[in-house]
Amino acid sequence: MRGRLAPSPTGALHLGNARTFLIAWLSIRSRGGRLLLRMEDLDHPRVKPGAAAAALEDMRWLGLDWDEGPDIGGPCGPYTQTERLPRYAAALERLRLAGLVYPCVCTRRDVAEGQSAPHAAAHEQRYGGTCRDRFASYAEACACLPSGGLPAWRFRAEGETFFDDAFRGPQRADAAEDGDFVVARHAQGAGYMLAVVVDDAAMDITEVLRGDDLLPATHRQLQLYRALGLKPPRFVHVPLVVSEDGRRLAKRHGDTRIAALRGRGVPAGKVVGLLAWWCGWAQWGEELTPTDLLPRYDLTRIPPCPAVLDARVRKFLGISQA
Ligand code: GLU
Repeated sequence: MRGRLAPSPTGALHLGNARTFLIAWLSIRSRGGRLLLRMEDLDHPRVKPGAAAAALEDMRWLGLDWDEGPDIGGPCGPYTQTERLPRYAAALERLRLAGLVYPCVCTRRDVAEGQSAPHAAAHEQRYGGTCRDRFASYAEACACLPSGGLPAWRFRAEGETFFDDAFRGPQRADAAEDGDFVVARHAQGAGYMLAVVVDDAAMDITEVLRGDDLLPATHRQLQLYRALGLKPPRFVHVPLVVSEDGRRLAKRHGDTRIAALRGRGVPAGKVVGLLAWWCGWAQWGEELTPTDLLPRYDLTRIPPCPAVLDARVRKFLGISQA
């Protein structure tokens, strides 16, 4: 059994990410599996200097650990995506030879979004198919753009995908309805969707546990697994932490960054206890380590609705609303 923690160094780790990482850690550790950490730093414009090191530090402070990772190496390295580009280029080449991707010159925004994991609903707009069957070659598409501009590669979505989510149950999607999606920003590049599939397969990941905002992305990833002849892992999509307004945690909801809590002297045990309380594994106010939670880990106790950062939680951690 192998799982992974896959932070993106595009911002600081907050209570929401921390809860998901704790669940992923417990799911693997409670069954004696191996856990690796992979740094997902492909989204260049949004990657923040120092955020990768800070994410590792925050996770360690919470008491999470891993058996392989960018800091300690391991048999499936490198564990930083920007050091794995040739692997993504090889996968892209396979898709190209199979006629499963086509060059696309559509809006920059659309293509830029393909670079990172689609967490926000706005990212899920269906692509109308403008460039499908439009160009005979990549060079022809290049000629359509101002000099220096490079077309993206878009995957031809077809057929149905099914999977049995270990938390959410059976899932089905019609690929045609979801539309074609970007797998690489330019000739050699790779976006989130392709990179995550290539890496999870190459690193022998058997369980992907992450926030349920990525559930729609899973159907796209399953199409890539199929196209590349790879075996998909078991998927587990758990609810996010939201504010009272039902939205994902953001700056306006107050400073929920793990580093800020640590900086204010909040003990790690108090934070982990809260994360566990949100999962139904602890009493309110208990101070715990991830290791204490090993015997209490139970996926079925996690409430199916999002965890809420409300006034009581804010007061408990001393978070004032921005
Ligand atoms: N690195 C991605 C993110 O933080 C998560 C990818 C995944 O778990 O598939 O958004």
